[in-house]
Formats: sequence, C-alpha cells, structure tokens
Amino acid sequence: MESILPKSKKVKKPMQKSLKARDNELAATNRQLEILEGGLFAEGELPYFKDKINKIGHFPLRPKKLEILQINVGYMCNQVCEHCHVDAGPDRKEIMTRDTMKQCLEVIKNTGAHTLDLTGGAPEMNPDFRWFVEEAAKAGIKDFIVRSNLTIIRANKKYYDLPDFFKKHNVHVISSMPHYTRGKTDKQRGDGVFDKSIKALQELNARGYGMPGSDLRLDLVYNPSGAYLPGDQMAMEKDFKKALDQDFGIQFHNLFAITNLPIARFLDYLIASENYEDYMYALVEAYNPAAVANVMCTNTISISWDGWLYDCDFNQMLDLKVASKVKHIKDYNEDVLNDRNIIISQHCYGCTAGAGSSCQGTVA
Ligand code: SF4
Ligand code: SF4
Repeated sequence: MESILPKSKKVKKPMQKSLKARDNELAATNRQLEILEGGLFAEGELPYFKDKINKIGHFPLRPKKLEILQINVGYMCNQVCEHCHVDAGPDRKEIMTRDTMKQCLEVIKNTGAHTLDLTGGAPEMNPDFRWFVEEAAKAGIKDFIVRSNLTIIRANKKYYDLPDFFKKHNVHVISSMPHYTRGKTDKQRGDGVFDKSIKALQELNARGYGMPGSDLRLDLVYNPSGAYLPGDQMAMEKDFKKALDQDFGIQFHNLFAITNLPIARFLDYLIASENYEDYMYALVEAYNPAAVANVMCTNTISISWDGWLYDCDFNQMLDLKVASKVKHIKDYNEDVLNDRNIIISQHCYGCTAGAGSSCQGTVA
C-alpha cells in the first residue's frame, strides 16, 4: 500500500523558517488532518481516538467547568524551534490587534475562569502586549500566566525589563526549558538558546521569581527533544532542580512535562526523521484511560489571535473551531460554549499518553 505521508527529506537544523514560509504542504491544516485520520488508523492498524474513549463512556468528549482562558496573542516568535506545534517564527505575521484584545478584556472581566493564560509565539512580541497585560491584570484573575520562551528577555534591549514588568503585574511566568544541558536545549531550540535562557532565569530569580516561598511563580516546561514520550514528571523536576541549582544557582517552582503532539513542525520532524508511525504506535500504546477525564480541553477555552474560539491550543493550530453556535470572541457566551462536544482526532492521543499531558503538565 502506498504511504499517505509526504516523502521524507532530511531536515537541516536548526530550521530557519516556519512551515508556512517554506510553503511546506504541512502548513495546510487539512493536510495534517488527512495524515492523522488516514494511514495507520484508516487501515485499522491502530484504533481511532474516538473509539478508545467511547469504550470508557467519554465520547462525545464534553467540557466540565471552565477554569482556564488561554489567549494566543500571535504566532510571531524570535525562535523557530524544531518541535513547535504553533509553527511560530519571526516570519509569522499573525498578531492580535488591540480591537480583538478589547473584546478579550470584556470576556476576562466577566468570565468564571480562575486562570488567564497568555501564549504565542512569543507573546511579548505583540506590540500591544504590555498594554494588554496592564489592562488584564486589573480584572484580578487569580492566576495570570504568561508563557515566555525566556530568550525573548535577552533578545533585544527593549525586552530587558520584562522581569520587572512581570513582577509589577504579579504575572505567573511559565517558561520552556527543554533540558538542563546546553546540547539538548540547543538541538531543539537553536544555537545559543540555552545560554540566553540561563541568563533570563537568573534575571527572574533576581526579582524573586521561582525562589522558595516566593509568591512570584516561575515554572518550567520540559518537552522531549526527539520522537519519544516524556519521563516521570516528578523525577525530572528533581533532576532539573539539582542540575540548574548546582551549575547556575537557578531556582524554580515546578516542572511540567509535556508530550509533543504530532502536529505542525513536530509532525514534520516525525515524518522527516521517519519516526511518525513508531511515534503514533508509542502514543496509542501509552494510552491511559484515567487521563481522559482531565484532558485540557475539558476546562479550557483557547482564543486565537483573530478571536476564533477553540477547544485547546492544538485544535487552534489545526483550525478545528469549537462545535458551538458561539465560535468567535465577539459572540462569547460561556454557558452556550460549555454546552458543546469537543472536537477530537488522533493528535489527542498525545494528551492521554502515560500520565497525560496538558499546558500545566501531567493530568492523571
Ligand atoms: S516552541 Fe515556543 S519558543 Fe519555540 S518557536 Fe514555538 S512558540 Fe516560539
Ligand atoms: S488535543 Fe486538545 S482536544 Fe484533543 S484531547 Fe488534547 S486538549 Fe483535548
């Protein structure tokens, strides 16, 4: 049988451009979905996610109480990481406008969610980022997260004061840190990323972020740098804490271990390295029914740079808008939205493998 996958081609690292800028066929979300729905699954070698969760009474997957509003303020980023599920990079021009931010602020003021989670790209690169943070902080949401890639803090003088800015608005900083060694970090995220990240972490620690007993929360996110699943989150947190403290005197609060989902650049990587089928087998084999009830989409709404609503950031990147009458922030209605079926596909196996995976780490 002929493979439905694109022809494998060795990828030079690090990549300099997004899939979109390279006109890669995977920049088309319907092509990604064709791969995820076809091949191994259509041929019956692996079960569809839908059938797996149906067996335990979770299909259709339904939301529980909304807890997290995740807002993606744009796909522009100073990095072009190999595994990026957003396909972010300096060449991505999709940026949330102030008008859309104003619509988000109305929602933030009235939401029942206790957590606001700003993400990107590098959210700090949105020209209205600081205005938005200042305004959003006034709503007094309990946990206000900004996902920072760390290197942005050292990318340009205009960002050097970000640690002070975060502190001023009591922002909870969650930062990617693929590993505590230079080699593994730079392999995934590009040359020089490790050193800049260390410097940024030291700057955050100097403001009190991540220090034992400090209310200024600093958490790190680990995701594997290859076609394998993350190890035990608690064990890794211990290793990260020990190594970063010993080598650089760095402190942080928690480590979240996140599974790479087979979409966008990670899908491209899997195909280019001829690991796609093995990875899907690994995800399905590691399926943990106990993780299903708490997958991220059951308590989150994801909002894109142009105001569309999604079940999660991954569905956003596959352009799978919510299955609801309310599809855009301008029509936002939490009660109507909460009465919907969540859209799933085979990428969802990434959220239920092992101890499960979400933007806040394990879920089971
Ligand atoms: S993984 Fe994060 S830091 Fe890397 S390119 Fe994507 S958005 Fe940027
Ligand atoms: S990928 Fe999104 S929709 Fe699928 S299980 Fe994970 S959070 Fe839910």
